[in-house]
Amino acid sequence: MAETIFSKIIKREIPADIVYEDDISLVFKDINPQAPVHLLIIPKKEIATINDISKEDRELIGHLYWLAGELARDMGFAEDGYRTVMNCGENAGQTVFHIHLHLLAGKPLGWPPYTDRMKQA
Ligand code: AMP
Repeated sequence: MAETIFSKIIKREIPADIVYEDDISLVFKDINPQAPVHLLIIPKKEIATINDISKEDRELIGHLYWLAGELARDMGFAEDGYRTVMNCGENAGQTVFHIHLHLLAGKPLGWPPYTDRMKQA
């Protein structure tokens, strides 16, 4: 798998606003936030897309969702609600091919979550 910008963030080769780290995952603020809170929860393991998740990765993927709930409780928006999104491939608008769970919160979130780019399509 080609190295992505997220691998460089993991290795501290480029800066990011990191809010949490453990041995298997990293959480940092999205550089182009779509909500008052917009975090990216990533595994340190390089997995390009949802299509590349293997059976052995199931616990790792569960860890990302567990972290989303922990962060929501810690940051105080668990009761108000929030959204988690993992885009897969071109039609979903995936731009970084290292899986990541978007965690969006801090305002009522519309549905469907169209981006400007998708509206123009
Ligand atoms: P996706 O379109 O689902 O692949 O999401 C990729 C996300 O990564 C976008 O929301 C970008 O704003 C975000 N992003 C890209 N580069 C960086 C970076 N260097 N630091 C933080 N977030 C980034």
